[in-house]
Amino acid sequence: MNTSLRIAIVGAGPGGLTLARILYRHGVNASVFERERSPLERPQGGTLDLHAESGQLALQRAGLEDAFKRIARYEDQGSRLMDQHGRLLFEAPNPDAGDRPEVDRTALRQALLDSLPPDCVSWGASVTGVRSTGDERWTLHQGALTHGPFDLVVGADGAWSKIRPLLSTYQPQYSGLTFIEFGIDDADRQHPHLAALVGRGTLQVAGEARAIIVQRNANAHLRGYAIFRVPSDWGADHLSLPALKAQFHGWHPQVLALFDAANETLLARPIHALPVGHRWSHRQGLTLIGDAAHLMSPFGGEGVNAAMLDAAELAQHLLETPDCSSAVQAYENHMFERVIPAAQGSAEAAAIQLSHDSLALSLAHLHHHLTPQ
Ligand SMILES: Cc1cc2nc3c(=O)[nH]c(=O)nc-3n(C[C@H](O)[C@H](O)[C@H](O)COP(=O)(O)OP(=O)(O)OC[C@H]3O[C@@H](n4cnc5c(N)ncnc54)[C@H](O)[C@@H]3O)c2cc1C
Repeated sequence: MNTSLRIAIVGAGPGGLTLARILYRHGVNASVFERERSPLERPQGGTLDLHAESGQLALQRAGLEDAFKRIARYEDQGSRLMDQHGRLLFEAPNPDAGDRPEVDRTALRQALLDSLPPDCVSWGASVTGVRSTGDERWTLHQGALTHGPFDLVVGADGAWSKIRPLLSTYQPQYSGLTFIEFGIDDADRQHPHLAALVGRGTLQVAGEARAIIVQRNANAHLRGYAIFRVPSDWGADHLSLPALKAQFHGWHPQVLALFDAANETLLARPIHALPVGHRWSHRQGLTLIGDAAHLMSPFGGEGVNAAMLDAAELAQHLLETPDCSSAVQAYENHMFERVIPAAQGSAEAAAIQLSHDSLALSLAHLHHHLTPQ
């Protein structure tokens, strides 16, 4: 690789920061542009399980195995399924036995940031567009400000990427499912009955075209998602705990108690996805990683893992191939095929979740994946 190449990464999510870190480890200083004003501007969301063959592999390539061990929660890999009447239908036998430990998103972002030089990320830099300089390079625009020129611009800017329209005409489509995110603080002390209900990992309660998923996060925080089928703008007018509870009218009081204990911060996350097999024709000096390239519903738990593996593979191609354009093409051609099974699986899951068969299907899925054979 020509180490004097100027590389811009748009977005300091898990994908963008993993790419910046691996390049930095090999002597290449990329510039990251992030619209949030600081790492703590907004809560980064819940817990993620990093898979050995993707998220964990990317952290190894980043030289962050030790940092990962410090933040990984191997003890929180449990899984429970209940129906709306509060009946326990499934419980994974060993919550601490798997190889998919949970990490909190904020801790993961901080571990990546700590491994980069302080001036690597420009905070408060909301990229509004990208323009060609006419000599195979690109400038980034942030309102009236211009950055660059850059030899390579990597769009790691998530679902509503500002880089993607230069490569693809596709926009994410609404899946019909909305997740309302809620949180319960200090559960072990303030709400021990709910901490016990959720257990060491994930509780899923499913029934009548609705579901509630609650995950144990670090610091005894419980993060829940109430999931149902409503128009994509439902959250704009209905975001309150009473409106949320009304969606689950008739469910077991032990389950509804989750809403009674929730704090006031509710977030609506209408779930969108790009089509399975989304791809584009290569364009010199531009590419996408992570959700910008292959946004999928969260049901497979693959999104962050795919984003970090994209970063690791793109970095490897760039570092090993003398010509930047050939490196990017090799990354793209492999990535387009690699993500198809995960995208297909999460599209199918989004279609069948909250259907009349969803409880039976969830039970079959858990038995298949979590019961020792
Ligand atoms: C409710 C929910 C639950 C999920 N649970 C899981 C899970 O359990 N496991 C899993 O693997 N995945 C899960 N996902 C998916 C996962 O969050 C994403 O796949 C992952 O975060 C993608 O990483 P990324 O780096 O590509 O993009 P993002 O994490 O979206 O990061 C993009 C970054 O770019 C910044 N940005 C955006 N636009 C601009 C701009 N114009 N200029 C500058 N910066 C910009 C953003 O502020 C952000 O920091 C879940 C998603 C949702 C919605």
